[in-house]
Amino acid sequence: MAKALSVAVFDGDGIGPEITAPTLDVLRQLSNASSHYDLSFEVLPAGATHYARTGTALPDASLAAADKADAVLLSAMGMPNVRYPDGTEISPQIDLRMIFNLFAGVRPVRIGEGGLTPLKLPPGKTVDFVLIRESTEGLFHSRASGKAPGTVSDDEARETLLITRDVCEKLFAFAFKLAGDRKKTGRSPGKVTCVDKANVFRSFAFFRELFDAEAARHPDLEADHAYVDAVALWMVQKPWVYDVMVTENMFGDILSDLGAGLMGGLGMAPSADIGLDHAVFQPCHGSAPDIAGQGKANPFAMILSGAMMLDWLGLKHGVSAMTDDAERLRLAIDDLVATQRSLTPDLGGTATTHDAAQAVADNLFATA
Ligand code: NAD
Repeated sequence: MAKALSVAVFDGDGIGPEITAPTLDVLRQLSNASSHYDLSFEVLPAGATHYARTGTALPDASLAAADKADAVLLSAMGMPNVRYPDGTEISPQIDLRMIFNLFAGVRPVRIGEGGLTPLKLPPGKTVDFVLIRESTEGLFHSRASGKAPGTVSDDEARETLLITRDVCEKLFAFAFKLAGDRKKTGRSPGKVTCVDKANVFRSFAFFRELFDAEAARHPDLEADHAYVDAVALWMVQKPWVYDVMVTENMFGDILSDLGAGLMGGLGMAPSADIGLDHAVFQPCHGSAPDIAGQGKANPFAMILSGAMMLDWLGLKHGVSAMTDDAERLRLAIDDLVATQRSLTPDLGGTATTHDAAQAVADNLFATA
């Protein structure tokens, strides 16, 4: 019997609804064609537009439904012109990370043969690494509790960076498990790189100490360290040396956009925020208000996030048809990119959001 699984969907703000609808269409087509799993979707209100209308960013009922669902799929939330009275933006996607303890922000960076990249890769070189961004503490810990001017003095603002043993132990265990899984499939050599700034900050010396303790439990895997500034350089100069990288929240926030740039842009960059019980899947990009409502948004990052969701659900529930379909989705998009077909303007094409998503579905079922 098909495994029934429920997905809570936040279609969010700006281009969010435009990329969500075709992504759900593609996922529904896969689910309908499978006798092994049966996905159902519930679209829930939350976000900046909802806040502007109602005064609530993340309604309790939406949170409760997301809590009960098997997975959460989210497009993007936030609008620069919609803010709380303290001047910060509405960002329920960050609230969800905190509420569900989604400590591991997983950001895959893949550049295959014929992939879109501003880099000139040496012949035969491809890139396939995963950046894990800790997503519940670090510098984001003091979000909404930082000291605004007038608290300490009128002329300064302060934020606090938090690194805890508990979160780091879970984070590093997750990173080494992922490296082990990748090694088992022959996809990579099995290496984890700790990205920090341990030369300057005590918090990062502690981060590194906890990383080394986890590394010692995995003698079969390689472990090394690098400072975040050097990593920013090497991600551009020799990105193929990386396998799994793990870093603090703010560093990961910045490096994951660099990773997206290496793959041709934010429209190609999927992500997952994973905890012990819950997981939220969403593109790395935001609500792109500059192109909202114009049919120009690239749906690939959201569809690829859907593929990550199929992977996670498939592994969790032992449904290999889901991980197979996740790979089919990635290959369908790789093919469009490599042959430069049905690409949206951010990737140099002229396709609309709808046409690009339709081309993914056509590719999927043409090769089925
Ligand atoms: P953004 O990612 O929305 O846009 C940056 C640039 O990338 C823009 O030029 C945009 O047009 C382009 N872009 C992004 N996604 C695209 C897509 N799918 N297809 C084609 N082009 C795409 O970042 P921003 O402009 O800094 O932020 C806009 C809003 O989104 C802000 O309110 C911000 O707080 C919010 N935001 C939300 C998330 C999230 O929900 N996870 C992440 C980042 C930013």
